[in-house]
Amino acid sequence: MQENLVQKIVEEVLQQVLKKQPSSQYDGKIPIGVSARHVHLAQAEVEKLFGENYQITPKFELSQPGQFAAEETVVIAGPKGSIERVRILGPARSLSQVEVSWTDAMKLGMKPPLRISGDIKGSSPVTLIGPNGSVVLNEGLIIAQAHIHMSPADSARFQVADGQSVQIKVEGIRPIILSNVMIRVSDRYRLEMHIDTDEANAGLIQQGALAEIIYVQANEQMDVKEIPPVFKQAERPSSYQFDKKLLSQVEVLEIEAREIIVPKNTIVTALAYDKIRELNKTLTIRSE
Ligand SMILES: [Zn+2]
Repeated sequence: MQENLVQKIVEEVLQQVLKKQPSSQYDGKIPIGVSARHVHLAQAEVEKLFGENYQITPKFELSQPGQFAAEETVVIAGPKGSIERVRILGPARSLSQVEVSWTDAMKLGMKPPLRISGDIKGSSPVTLIGPNGSVVLNEGLIIAQAHIHMSPADSARFQVADGQSVQIKVEGIRPIILSNVMIRVSDRYRLEMHIDTDEANAGLIQQGALAEIIYVQANEQMDVKEIPPVFKQAERPSSYQFDKKLLSQVEVLEIEAREIIVPKNTIVTALAYDKIRELNKTLTIRSE
């Protein structure tokens, strides 16, 4: 009795502490969730696979609020093979979608495209087999693009916007860097990076490891103004067309670009050559 009460108080205090702790508890890093192969089903497919009016049963909650792993599993099949007991994730969606790793895809005999979840137009076909029947999806099989779920507050903290891509690094005994990791911002999201089992295995990553954003990639379709000033310097041009008759070390110091392109008749001073070497720049003579 007494012990129960103590436990209850401890739990309540812990909960208060956890509530107050912002996601900065990770010290600027992002917890990693490894997604194993799984299926999202539309209600129509649920009924074809499990029976009329069937509702999938939540087994346990996932880290993203409202999402759950279901009790039910299906067999997924392709031209070369099949994989049993593939977990269904709920709740039901408007379109059915199957997310596998490249290793799984080879087993099935398919080459699905790398896509962000939900973008399945023109993706690969796949067959689903349940206890009540099977369904052939003409599209819906994808390799999921690595992504980071975050709240608007986290997006401000990391200075990234929804739809932007970043490069992340995971330290460890086999450190890896992943590029094109897409930022997904919603107030329904909790900070977490989702990668598939192939990516996790590449870096010997286990559930709960932390990732660090090391670079924000400039998206072509995105307005430059949206990119935080901190990252603007990464966009400096890679080459500079020099058009004067004399290139001295003063100009070399002023040119930000790595490559300096000069016309054939430009005189380059000895000190300019030294500075170019010292700053690890390259000099290209333009042949007109
Ligand atoms: Zn996700």
